[in-house]
Amino acid sequence: MSEKIIVSACLAGLNCRYDCASKEKEDIVKLVKDGIAIPVCPEQLGGLSTPREPAEIQQNRVITATGTDVTEKYENGALEALKMVNMTGASKAILKSKSPMCGYGEIYDGSYTGKLKKGDGVFTKLLIKLGIKVESRD
Ligand code: SF4
Repeated sequence: MSEKIIVSACLAGLNCRYDCASKEKEDIVKLVKDGIAIPVCPEQLGGLSTPREPAEIQQNRVITATGTDVTEKYENGALEALKMVNMTGASKAILKSKSPMCGYGEIYDGSYTGKLKKGDGVFTKLLIKLGIKVESRD
């Protein structure tokens, strides 16, 4: 059986981002079609609606643009998405850059000005902790 890869669902063309858009990448779609990649959107799995308010990480909490603390939904969503990792035995993930859930290495800094800071999204952090190899995609 070939290696399975978890991918951010928005990279696979699903319109699951906060603004109902996707960030479709042809090579990721092909991986899904070939049965190698499994798309997940941890934000939706955490019970957040689409569309939804954008959120950024401020001092280890996930806060929407109008100040609602959605940390618990993010944590629940990451745990739900983790079930897919465990079910498929995936050892690698390709995740959407800069997102407070899927970002790897750098994320928006919490000021809603488009600035970045070092850090990982909530789902990414969980995967790294569990030894899953993470790759970031713009
Ligand atoms: Fe894409 Fe991840 Fe955000 Fe879902 S949580 S929209 S998969 S970046």
